Amino acid sequence: MILRPFDPWKCQLCTCPPKMSLNPYTGCPHGCLYCYASSYIPHFQECRAKADLLRRLEREAKKINPNTLVAMSNSSDPYPAMEKELELSRGCLQILLEKNLPVQVITKSDLVIRDADLLSSMKSTVAISITTLSESISRKLEPGAPSPSRRLMAIRRLTECNIPVSARIDPIIPGINESEIEELVLAVCRAGAAHIVSSTYKARKDNLRRVCSAFPRAGDALKVMFQRGSRIYGSLYLSLDMRMGLMREVEKSALREGVTFSACREGIAPPDGINCDGTHLILCKNRA
Ligand code: SF4
Repeated sequence: MILRPFDPWKCQLCTCPPKMSLNPYTGCPHGCLYCYASSYIPHFQECRAKADLLRRLEREAKKINPNTLVAMSNSSDPYPAMEKELELSRGCLQILLEKNLPVQVITKSDLVIRDADLLSSMKSTVAISITTLSESISRKLEPGAPSPSRRLMAIRRLTECNIPVSARIDPIIPGINESEIEELVLAVCRAGAAHIVSSTYKARKDNLRRVCSAFPRAGDALKVMFQRGSRIYGSLYLSLDMRMGLMREVEKSALREGVTFSACREGIAPPDGINCDGTHLILCKNRA
């Protein structure tokens, strides 16, 4: 199946609304050190297109309820460099538009701007992930992903096209990007983000090894912090106090800028009318 019910590994801390997941690609070339998906998809950095994707989507999209929310993508970025040539994510958007299905695009790539013509004429919202404003930290932390300035530009351009955008400031990693919270919130809000989603770093064996090797000092401190935290659904979580403190900091900055806030898999219920994943913005667009 190309359209699969979103299943966050049955994590009880997930407060997402029901939705379908659509991943046009398997694997992702962005190489984020903290990536969770690399723990369960083999050869994750070798990005490959899903076989016969558009024909399968065309067939499956006919069968689902017209209000079903489609998230593209939850585990592999839908705008890797090869999308420039292949236009598979664009093809998926065309099909979803024809079927009038609501979509949330989640990406770190400014290539999504190319598809603003489709996104602006459908029920849509885009979530742009950004973890740092520092080009040098980003080059180490997310070596294959577009720079922070390109992501901010994507937020700006999509907003100008009347496409509601949320910013995913996640994960917050103590010792690496937690000192930037206020600045990050300010930058994404100035660019036009209407909602902020955030979460703290949840370590798995392989991603923690990568983070520690690229950021040895922060890595040593992180190992101690995780010893004081807990293991939930196979991931190491920071202590509850620390997680709540970091999320409160993001929330405070977001509210100061006049935008809404939600946390991802932290056990914090979103306020009424807000979806933790930012998908409520689709409705805001339809009301505009
Ligand atoms: S963009 Fe997302 S899927 Fe791709 S490597 Fe980074 S965290 Fe993983």
